[in-house]
Amino acid sequence: MKIIDKVFSEDKLSAKVLQATDDNFVIETGVFDDGNTCHLCVSCQIGCPISCQMCYNGINKNYHRNLNKQEILDEIENIIEEFKLLNKYDNLCCSFMGVGEPMLNYDNVLATIQKLAANCERIYFALATTLPHPDDIVKLTEDFNKVNQFKLTISLHAPNDIKRKKLISSHSSFVELRKAMNYYKKYSIHKAEFNYVLLKNFNDSDKDFYELLDFLEDDDRLKISCYNTIEGGIFEKSTEDRYLMLHRLLDERNIHNSKFESLGDKIDVGCGQMAAKKLIRR
Ligand code: SF4
Repeated sequence: MKIIDKVFSEDKLSAKVLQATDDNFVIETGVFDDGNTCHLCVSCQIGCPISCQMCYNGINKNYHRNLNKQEILDEIENIIEEFKLLNKYDNLCCSFMGVGEPMLNYDNVLATIQKLAANCERIYFALATTLPHPDDIVKLTEDFNKVNQFKLTISLHAPNDIKRKKLISSHSSFVELRKAMNYYKKYSIHKAEFNYVLLKNFNDSDKDFYELLDFLEDDDRLKISCYNTIEGGIFEKSTEDRYLMLHRLLDERNIHNSKFESLGDKIDVGCGQMAAKKLIRR
């Protein structure tokens, strides 16, 4: 695995890094500066087999294969070395939120995290999944209770099963999502959150928000993500007043919520878009 290209935001706080595998596929990693912490948005597959309709990889059906453990380690370690991240930052967060569904490459993702966690206490980890099957979450909970710093994100993105099915092809039902989250909240030593990307006129009406609130429990945490429009996509970014409405409703219920704006906006590309355009073997 070697670095072949880097694109920086104007403020130089964000970058997307392209790396080529030994068999000449191209993968993409996001790097962004958050003060004392640097975040890596790590890819774990070449393309993605899940057809999320708000994602460039999902609509382009570009899955080729899993990255193996050594490739994921190289992806991360090459960037740590290239940007001298452990010299510049107090902490490094490796989030498996780049291209690919980590639960479909679980053993390699876990082995990578275990190795990095054993070598450096200043690296912590996050994993986002669209497929939180309750049986898999039991194993994940046990495995990650042995890792010092970890956060699980379950991608919700819709207020009900019907809308989620339109968005995510291989979807877990809301009953499974709730079961998975509640098991994790009960048995994990770490925090978990749902992620809800706001999509204009799809999941951002008052009715959507009240339905979402019916699903959420008081001790849930919700990350509200702003959408980056993608080339060829059917969705648009929701407006700030829709975000503020959801934020207010969640605050009124005392449900912990946070806003997330991806680095993609700053460097004018949606998640995985750069690599996807170069994905066919060079
Ligand atoms: S959002 Fe994630 S899981 Fe869905 S298609 Fe894109 S990379 Fe795959």
